[in-house]
Amino acid sequence: MENKNLWVLALSEKGKLLDVSAEIISMARSLGKEMKEEVVALLIANENTEELAKEALSYGADKVCLVKGEEYDHYKTLPFTNVLDKMIEKYAPLAVFIPATANGRDLGGRISARRSLGLVADCIDVKSAKDSKTIDWVRPTFDGKLISTIRISTLPQVGTIGLGVFKKRLIENPKTEIFEEQISYEGPASGYSIIEHVEKKIPREKDLSQAKKVIGMGMGLKDPENFKIGQALAKELGASVGFSKPIIDKGWEPSQMQVGVTGKKLKSKLYFALGISGARQHTAGLKDVDVIIAVNNDKDAAIFDVAHYNVVADLFEFVPKLTEKLKNM
Ligand SMILES: Cc1cc2nc3c(=O)[nH]c(=O)nc-3n(C[C@H](O)[C@H](O)[C@H](O)COP(=O)(O)OP(=O)(O)OC[C@H]3O[C@@H](n4cnc5c(N)ncnc54)[C@H](O)[C@@H]3O)c2cc1C
Repeated sequence: MENKNLWVLALSEKGKLLDVSAEIISMARSLGKEMKEEVVALLIANENTEELAKEALSYGADKVCLVKGEEYDHYKTLPFTNVLDKMIEKYAPLAVFIPATANGRDLGGRISARRSLGLVADCIDVKSAKDSKTIDWVRPTFDGKLISTIRISTLPQVGTIGLGVFKKRLIENPKTEIFEEQISYEGPASGYSIIEHVEKKIPREKDLSQAKKVIGMGMGLKDPENFKIGQALAKELGASVGFSKPIIDKGWEPSQMQVGVTGKKLKSKLYFALGISGARQHTAGLKDVDVIIAVNNDKDAAIFDVAHYNVVADLFEFVPKLTEKLKNM
């Protein structure tokens, strides 16, 4: 069977389509037009399925493939992998796009291993290659120092894409085709059962996606002991604090404090970037910030290309002085 069509795993939570699913469907619609392929949203859910399917269509899916059942109430690795595996077997998609959420990453790895498929994780762009059947998957490599374009030689081509990489767009006159597949899970037990779902409550001042002002700190701070410099400035400005990924990777701060493509996307009025180089994966989280002020002692730092105000200075000298000035105002 010839592989065709672009499939998007439309992940949902509590009966609502995840934003990242909507964004990927919108992207797939444009790509599908270019590649002359249809976009099929694969919806695996139990709750509110009709509304979910309509939502997926409203962002540009040509069809929704609905797999419904109690076992799909919450994400579970083996039942979800089983569905995707069966759908790939039956429909032979040309590509499968998976949201790079914790669950999507889990499923991507599973399906790739089960079917021996190449997978490109955390893509920051996808394009149609010249032959129109191959996709160019763009992602950072070597810890963000290179941006690589990767092609996959197995079919379907599989990739994961994070929140905020693409924009979701509602379309006019969405299509209406929803087809259902009955797939019950009969494989080995998952080895665990879910007793209860407890939502992690993030205190308002720590919810970076809602913050009006954010002080971002990066490896230029050198040691967690020095975070107090940024925290003092945050206190004066009534701002929240966020961090670049290496700080999180070192275990110095919790993951919900990370800014960037694999962290939080900010919508704040003000962002201070202290000792942050300005890698693309970091600045991807700043697209909706009104004013960016960067402090860096390297005049060629990439952060200065996106900042509105550039301060070429040693942050250990500049920031305490600024904080002191604000205190006395
Ligand atoms: C798949 C993938 C996803 C990623 N996702 C993210 C993400 O979501 N968020 C993210 O942040 N990163 C992400 N990264 C990592 C990213 O590529 C960069 O490595 C990271 O953002 C660099 O962090 P940094 O700017 O704090 O550190 P560095 O690159 O080490 O920069 C430190 C900066 O501090 C400056 N500095 C040093 N001393 C001083 C001083 N005394 N005064 C002033 N300035 C000083 C330096 O000039 C330098 O510019 C990702 C990478 C990959 C591969």
